[in-house]
Amino acid sequence: MANPMPAVTLAQILRDEGLTVVEVGNWRTHNRNSKGPWGPVHGVMIHHTVTSGTQRTVDICRTGYSGLPGPLCHGVIAKDGTVYLVGYGRANHAGSGDDDVLRAVQEETPARPRDDEANTDGNPHFYGFECENLGDGKDPWPAVQMEAIERAAAAICRWHRWGPRSVIGHLEWQPGKVDPRGFTMDSMRDRIADRLADDPEPEPPKTPTKPAAPKPPAKPVVDLSKLVAAAKADPPRRGTPISYYGTKTVEQALVREGLLAPSLADGHFGTATRTAYASWQRRCGYSGKDADGVPGATSLKKLGSRRGFTVTA
Ligand SMILES: [Zn+2]
Repeated sequence: MANPMPAVTLAQILRDEGLTVVEVGNWRTHNRNSKGPWGPVHGVMIHHTVTSGTQRTVDICRTGYSGLPGPLCHGVIAKDGTVYLVGYGRANHAGSGDDDVLRAVQEETPARPRDDEANTDGNPHFYGFECENLGDGKDPWPAVQMEAIERAAAAICRWHRWGPRSVIGHLEWQPGKVDPRGFTMDSMRDRIADRLADDPEPEPPKTPTKPAAPKPPAKPVVDLSKLVAAAKADPPRRGTPISYYGTKTVEQALVREGLLAPSLADGHFGTATRTAYASWQRRCGYSGKDADGVPGATSLKKLGSRRGFTVTA
């Protein structure tokens, strides 16, 4: 259950992720909230526009067309990677999709159910990006546009503490949809995963080159109670379920402390993670039951201050 972020925050986190953002008109209050709910939000949806020309594309996504009033998304991602914010709130982009898919997004399960039902209104639950492309399988996706999609989706996931499995394509949601066409959503989720796993520590200051260099993203936040719940519940479960994505932040810190193999920093709080965390607790001076691998506030804050995350209760 997640409330949508404020509009001003969306613009800010996209810029913090290094994107060029254009705020179009009254986008912050341009929405379809009078027609139905907005939120709780569960994920991010990627589309292609079947249009060409950035100005025309932005106009259509902002105002819509007869039969489908705008906004048709929250952000338009142009060929040059610029993000145009055209609306905020409920938008006509997701339409009716499959409740099984929504549940998989909420639970961030590895398996993705086939979207063979259109029984659930997706417009309350997804942030939407329309990407400028003809969708004919021939129109190229410039590298800078692909990177902007990656950054925009990652920025939202970072803010909500979601993993890459919270990002889907329209074609994975609504029967009959083919967008986005020209790349796979699995490949995009891999890119988003890599970006979310990036070292959160800010780079050392260098000689300023540009006056308006993007700010480094905010430090990730780890919720102690969710982490403890994952540490207790996950080890005996089958497979590698991810019950709390903040686990990955902690695992990456343990990797950098030399206590966990990099391949095991997968977001699943399994027995290897318990063992690694117990080693960290012993390093902090705990022993016996106090070093059982279930994180406590003191050891976690110490790890966070060394490895660049903050801890909430
Ligand atoms: Zn679409």
